Amino acid sequence: MELTPDILKKLIKSAQMAADHEIGCNECFDELHEFAEMELAGKSPEEAKPLIKDHLDKCSSCREEYQALLEALRTIESDN
Ligand SMILES: [Zn+2]
Repeated sequence: MELTPDILKKLIKSAQMAADHEIGCNECFDELHEFAEMELAGKSPEEAKPLIKDHLDKCSSCREEYQALLEALRTIESDN
């Protein structure tokens, strides 16, 4: 198969469409705090914020960030 400009355009378009359903690290980070607080409150953050959950499943650096955040919040709570 030859990569004609037409095929390239289609490939780029489908990549962009897939990206629409995913969030980036910045967006994830913006909501990470809320996600962690819901988790600690025993709510279901993965239901309220499925895109964050999805990103955490895929992105190890955000997952580490999230674990650290949970840890920090737990420490704060146990201090009170
Ligand atoms: Zn990330």
